[in-house]
Amino acid sequence: MKKPDKQFIKSLDYEEVSSFFSSVGEKDYRARQLFNWLYERNVTSFDEMTNFSKELRKKLDSLFIVSPLSLEEHRVSPSDGTEKYLFRTFDGHYIESVLLKSEGTDDGRLTVCISSQVGCAMGCVFCATARIGFRRNLETGEILDQLCHVRRLTGLKNNNIVFMGMGEPFMNYDNVIRAAEIMNYSFGFHISVRKITISTCGILGGLERFMHEKQPYNLAISLNDTDPEKRAHSMPVEKKYPFAEIIALLGRTFPVSRNRLTIEYIMRRDNISRDDARRLKKMFKYGRIKLNLIPLNPGSDAFGAPGQEEIDNFVKELEIMNVPISIRKSLGADISGACGQLSGKKYSTE
Ligand code: SAH
Repeated sequence: MKKPDKQFIKSLDYEEVSSFFSSVGEKDYRARQLFNWLYERNVTSFDEMTNFSKELRKKLDSLFIVSPLSLEEHRVSPSDGTEKYLFRTFDGHYIESVLLKSEGTDDGRLTVCISSQVGCAMGCVFCATARIGFRRNLETGEILDQLCHVRRLTGLKNNNIVFMGMGEPFMNYDNVIRAAEIMNYSFGFHISVRKITISTCGILGGLERFMHEKQPYNLAISLNDTDPEKRAHSMPVEKKYPFAEIIALLGRTFPVSRNRLTIEYIMRRDNISRDDARRLKKMFKYGRIKLNLIPLNPGSDAFGAPGQEEIDNFVKELEIMNVPISIRKSLGADISGACGQLSGKKYSTE
């Protein structure tokens, strides 16, 4: 199915909805009402918006689409309750979202992991999404509709959001930031900015913009290697935007910012030595930075997963050096819903 002429209403922010209503002679409060229907009440059609006149509902329906994604598959992990949602876009692409349950999440609550692109251009060798290649950016409406579906199906009201699904959020900066802003509207989902985390592999321009604009969301940066040469091998983005430049940028901007920062670090057999721990230590001179250690999930055969003893030694080393760490539980691996395993059914090699 091709994208129709109609626009996705969820791609529009408050100003745009507001100016639409004024262009058709409606009062300004209609905009708030619309956001309330779309997110707080999470309806699927304009017809349900009963405080709008029939005529207005018809007009909206002739110009806009409420739900740009259709749910294709919903899988629940028998081992840990992680839920994976496979969606189909209007133009026939597949994207995935994941609902991570309480005790496994970093801070013990429910977290929805959202995709920002169809596929990804970053080429990280350990990640299944990279193997799809890049197809296209998701529109704001497609980013938000993932959350609408998950909330509607689960009755979920209060949750964290992580932009850690398929894609590189900072390669789709405008649509991702706009989606985060809309999630925060008090007359919509009203999700606190402290509950929204944007994860990037380290797109320097995106980070600069994010800090310059004083975006209030939590930030996560995927480091995964402390040695630049090794990092360049597993994450080609290092060749374009060396992590040293990101550290320099953080040095300039972080002391005056209010963001919380997580450095993500996949533990492999070859990147958890004492030297790695020492090099990591150097990055933790600012407060509000936490190291999030991620167990390597099967996504590629390129690397070996470390044994428990090697992990324990690395963790001990970091603790001795007072590096603030958290260890991410691997959730949803049995339904290919864990970090680095999202590929969309259509492209899956399962
Ligand atoms: N592109 C963004 C967000 C998506 S990846 C980013 O790079 O941050 C989300 C997290 O999953 C990243 O920290 C990434 O390093 C991690 N990840 C990717 N593949 C993985 C794998 N096979 N095992 C464990 N974590 C993985």
